[in-house]
Amino acid sequence: MALEDYKADMERCSQCSYCKWIPLDHVKSWRFAKGCPSIAYNNFLSYSARGRFAVALSLLNSQSNYTDRVVDIVYKCVTCGSCDVSDKICRYNLEPLEMMHELRFRLVEDGQLLPQHMAVIEHLRKEDNMMMEPRAGRGDWAEELDVKHITSEQAEVVFHAGCRFSYDKDLRETARTAVTLLKNAGVDIGIMGKDESCCGGKAYDMGYKGEFVKFAENATEAWTAAGVKTVVTSCADCYHAFNRLYPPLGAKFEILHTVQYLDRLIKEGKIKFTKTVPMRVTYHDPCHLGRQGEPYVPWEGKEKKIKGQIVVYEPRKPRYNGAWGVYDPPRDVLKSIPGLELVEMERIREYAWCCGAGGGAREAYPKFSNWTATERIEEAKSTGTEAIVSACPWCERNFTDAIDTTGEKMKVFDVIELVQQAI
Ligand code: SF4
Ligand code: SF4
Repeated sequence: MALEDYKADMERCSQCSYCKWIPLDHVKSWRFAKGCPSIAYNNFLSYSARGRFAVALSLLNSQSNYTDRVVDIVYKCVTCGSCDVSDKICRYNLEPLEMMHELRFRLVEDGQLLPQHMAVIEHLRKEDNMMMEPRAGRGDWAEELDVKHITSEQAEVVFHAGCRFSYDKDLRETARTAVTLLKNAGVDIGIMGKDESCCGGKAYDMGYKGEFVKFAENATEAWTAAGVKTVVTSCADCYHAFNRLYPPLGAKFEILHTVQYLDRLIKEGKIKFTKTVPMRVTYHDPCHLGRQGEPYVPWEGKEKKIKGQIVVYEPRKPRYNGAWGVYDPPRDVLKSIPGLELVEMERIREYAWCCGAGGGAREAYPKFSNWTATERIEEAKSTGTEAIVSACPWCERNFTDAIDTTGEKMKVFDVIELVQQAI
């Protein structure tokens, strides 16, 4: 697809503003009714999906040129997809998220770049990670971990740690725990360790499609050579890249997030709990595991106008509206832990508020990113729980940083950590 392919969407935007909010029938309070962090933070129409449709149409029709403001509008968005869900549920089958990706690809092609993103991408090209860390340290997280290395030994399942878990010293124990839990439950698991690279998903979200394709092809080749059948990851961003972005490039692997695998193993009786974890927690749905965690559905077709008026697609286009994201496995895992009580926030599942770490916002707009996380912590606090639990290291890092800024008392956990506490 190209930006031009979304011109009909741009023209059909009715300016209803549903994309700024979660669907009305899911609103429980005015305080937590908003869905789009970008418009909520910037408080100006152009910083919404509606505004970005207008900006893109104006550029395509040569009614405006690139300016610093246009560049800011395009990139100051966490690519969370809340607008996309609200648009499809409340309005039409428009695809603002896909359009915004195409808009970023176009800006990158035209050299309209953010210096902060350029620095990260330059580093990615040299060192294969998004963390501004050296290539040589990639496998350190797995030091002395008793597990197969798939470049020298065959394994059915490969665990992909991802950039954040590989390099963030505060979080890497979670990745080690994930591998150990799966191995002890009898899974034939291996890792790539120092030979693993970035999944490319964050480069895609920033608009660098070429880098994404390179990393996708390299990973697919390595997994195929190693005879891997299943790829498991504890990172929501990696999960989304493997599950949704790799298949159109020809990848054919079973993709599981760790929470799905743990849920399966607990239900099969292969993981048993012996301890109680007396804690009241709330669960945050990572955008890339939740509403963007729906599997890729192949589609080839064309747009058609009926009587020159109504636009339809033949055959019917798959409709990604978030309903089939990964919502129940992490909740089922948490509910199965003895002593643990799960209390829900107001905005959950496909209507969850973003953690603020996505779309290159953490790298380019740290205040906006931190504010978005702080908003979620406020919502978590309103449940009266003592901890917010997630299933993505980027969410966990952004929440921890926000808590450090505000001095809140809220604790942050990964689902994996709580499972380990109960073993
Ligand atoms: S919900 Fe869709 S149609 Fe309505 S303003 Fe937003 S982008 Fe336009
Ligand atoms: S992707 Fe998220 S931040 Fe960006 S416009 Fe849509 S709702 Fe707003």
